[in-house]
Amino acid sequence: MPEPDLPTVKMNLIRPTKPATARVISNELCTRGKSASFVKHLVLDVSTTPLAGNFHAGQSFGVITPGTAPNGKAHKVRLYSVASPTWGEDGAGNVVSTTPKRLIEEFVQQSAKDDPDDHRLFLGVASNYLCDLRAGDEVQITGPNGKRFLLPVDPQAHDYLFLATGTGIAPFRGMLLELLEAQAGPTSSRIDLIMGTPYTTDLLYDELFQQLAEKHANFHYHTAISRELQTTGERGLYVDGLIDRQIEYFADLIGNARTIVYVCGLDGMRYGLFRTLIKHDLAEDYLVVNASLQSRPVSEWSDRELKKGVKPTSRCLLEVY
Ligand code: NAP
Repeated sequence: MPEPDLPTVKMNLIRPTKPATARVISNELCTRGKSASFVKHLVLDVSTTPLAGNFHAGQSFGVITPGTAPNGKAHKVRLYSVASPTWGEDGAGNVVSTTPKRLIEEFVQQSAKDDPDDHRLFLGVASNYLCDLRAGDEVQITGPNGKRFLLPVDPQAHDYLFLATGTGIAPFRGMLLELLEAQAGPTSSRIDLIMGTPYTTDLLYDELFQQLAEKHANFHYHTAISRELQTTGERGLYVDGLIDRQIEYFADLIGNARTIVYVCGLDGMRYGLFRTLIKHDLAEDYLVVNASLQSRPVSEWSDRELKKGVKPTSRCLLEVY
């Protein structure tokens, strides 16, 4: 099995003890229509910071929200995925983008000292701060972070299956632009992206991906919408469900020794993917399965067993929370 050769990247050039100042260039919604979610494409000028020219698609950078947390301490660094190719939004690595989503929830008990009946409106701190920013505002940043969720050194040596849920699409925007819109010309490798969202209106960067798919015959854009009835009359789909349903189409890609599978978004995505790969006898190059599980059919393995007993190989890269 050929191991992907990943680049060596810079990390932690800006430390939380001495953050650098970036400036907002733009902050626009990137959902598809009248979505109930608010997700932004935030573009930052990092030209005067050590991040300039030193981030890669697939890495993240930190943001420090001004002010203090309820405990009186400064807010902690929150990491956001780079949504740009390695050369940035400007072609020179001076402008980086990311994809913050407003977190709007009811409070739920986090620890024994919280009131279990307290369900007041709860707003995420860092993501709402980022979504509020206007052009010209300053932002304290750190990073870059991450050394594994990267495109290979030789992109042409591999094919790609990208699986995203929600804002987990951010690194794939950068990677796709890098693979398909490089100045040196596009890769001819096969690339399939499956994007999972609750509703069609929640799709992120949908127009861009449709345009890329129209322009590049080797790029295939799929969506898995979880809360809408499908044209087949079935209920909603998850990303792994789409692979399962179209296994003849995806088996070619997944069964190919060149392919790397990248997964970004909700932690739960891994279980469906693992089950689907094992069910269709396609797991060999992507997963190492503990011998203790192998005596029972995969349909009987719990999520916990999958988490403990199945480890991804270097051809299955996970960035899930
Ligand atoms: P969202 O818009 O709510 O979309 C998530 C989609 O995934 C929904 O369609 C959801 O379906 C579906 N889903 C739920 N459980 C699933 C499972 N077990 N397998 C497959 N699909 C499943 O997403 P979001 O609010 O943007 O959240 C994205 C997550 O990605 C966040 O947790 C964020 O922290 C994480 N993230 C990670 C990174 C990173 O690691 N670098 C970067 C960006 C985002 P239903 O809700 O209808 O069940």
